[in-house]
Amino acid sequence: MSGAIQRDVVVVGGGLAGTAAALALSQGGAEISGNSITVLDRRPTLGGRAYSYPHPALDEVVDSQHVILGCCTNLIDLFEQAGAADTIRWYDQLFFLEPNGNRTRLAPGVLPAPSHQTISFLRAPMLGLSDKIGVARGLVEFLRGYPASDAESFATWLKRTRQTERAIRHFWEPVVVGALNDGFDNCSTKYAGKVFHESFLRSPQAGRLGIPALPLSEWLNPLTELAQSRGVDVRMKTGMTGLEQIAGDRWRVTTESAVFETSNVILAVDFKQTQGILRELPGGAPIAAGFEHFIAAPITTIHLWFDREVIDLDHAVLLDTRIQWIFTKSRIRRWPASRGTYLELVISASWPELKLGREEILASALEELAMFFPAVKTARLVKSSVLKEARATFSVTPGLDAYRPTQKTPWPGLYLAGDWTATEWPSTMEGAVRSGRLAAGALMGDMARYLSAELPATGVMPLLVR
Ligand SMILES: Cc1cc2nc3c(=O)[nH]c(=O)nc-3n(C[C@H](O)[C@H](O)[C@H](O)COP(=O)(O)OP(=O)(O)OC[C@H]3O[C@@H](n4cnc5c(N)ncnc54)[C@H](O)[C@@H]3O)c2cc1C
Repeated sequence: MSGAIQRDVVVVGGGLAGTAAALALSQGGAEISGNSITVLDRRPTLGGRAYSYPHPALDEVVDSQHVILGCCTNLIDLFEQAGAADTIRWYDQLFFLEPNGNRTRLAPGVLPAPSHQTISFLRAPMLGLSDKIGVARGLVEFLRGYPASDAESFATWLKRTRQTERAIRHFWEPVVVGALNDGFDNCSTKYAGKVFHESFLRSPQAGRLGIPALPLSEWLNPLTELAQSRGVDVRMKTGMTGLEQIAGDRWRVTTESAVFETSNVILAVDFKQTQGILRELPGGAPIAAGFEHFIAAPITTIHLWFDREVIDLDHAVLLDTRIQWIFTKSRIRRWPASRGTYLELVISASWPELKLGREEILASALEELAMFFPAVKTARLVKSSVLKEARATFSVTPGLDAYRPTQKTPWPGLYLAGDWTATEWPSTMEGAVRSGRLAAGALMGDMARYLSAELPATGVMPLLVR
């Protein structure tokens, strides 16, 4: 087509997967010049689901809290490349709070991995002796790693390893539902095992909790700037409206404002949209049909601004409540005490909340919060917001691996990226970055070429890890 812009690579979708793919291909010494890569996204900023936005009525920038672990080596590497690693605040300890005032603190102690959390675990008031014995017996199953097959559900695993009701409620559930965003029946033991292996056993560094110290779009901006500094043509508010194969194994990508012709397309949009796009390609229907096995799961976040300090922790797990995690964003962002408290409460797998109104969710959240932090009752709630993300993540349902496509497709020059593709990771930013790097590697003929090394196991774990 005359007037079409010629490119070597067009990346469709500038979430973390697409951004990571463009950054991999344009990095120093790469064979593809940044100037011949275009990233298109229909939104006004890159970052996809990891976004923040100025709330017009509240005069605040709002996002849904995202956290990472120390084992997210690819995501951390991107921030290091962009010179922005110091925008991640790292925490070694986790607090689990009960409504009766009990506080459990899990943190690495003097013992080597995998026993580094043992001392704090033995002291944990949230579990009795029989619960602890069950948890220890369960964790032993993940010492060497996690199952290669994703056939078993975590619900079955909990029964098989005879976990107590209290251990399920106070340990397995907050971690699994928080990390995998679905109930036990919809999570495979493989991915639950991966979370426990990395968070509690492999090394103290792998299990560290990282929290962005900035609103998400601001936090991710250095990655966009890095791509642009390498010459990548980043086009926001530019959605792809058509994709077709043209002569010479090339592709035509149509948007409302421009047409591109390119040898390579990296399709880095979510599974639902990819399904619609592949279905229209010759021979695409059977591949697209496999995507019916994906389920999207919701997360609801409640944002509260109080006129004074109401909480003495940066983050915590709340037990026996609908709210699962709290993040004191005013502390994480180091606001002066005089600015009051900005709290975000997170409800994972929040299907019931999708059907509830804002006022109902807010009232229940405030009631639950006051059970843990009585100062909430006397502080003035200055403003509040409820954010429902109906399609926050995909669920790692048992057997899903068979339907997660690799980044290389049967069509020459067409690659897939996105947290939902085959990465060996659940629906996370790290999974998205790995998928983008794998797609870039596939394009260059060596899938693993751009992946960062895993963190080494420490203590006695090198003797145990498969
Ligand atoms: C509420 C919430 C909480 C979360 N919490 C965490 C967490 O704590 N830790 C964690 O690691 N992960 C978390 N996640 C998941 C994480 O955000 C995702 O796994 C990750 O951002 C997915 O990135 P992606 O690039 O694969 O997809 P996306 O971010 O969905 O990117 C796809 C991009 O494609 C663009 N696009 C779609 N169609 C077109 C088109 N036709 N043309 C051009 N562009 C198009 C979209 O605008 C989007 O930017 C959370 C997600 C949500 C929503």
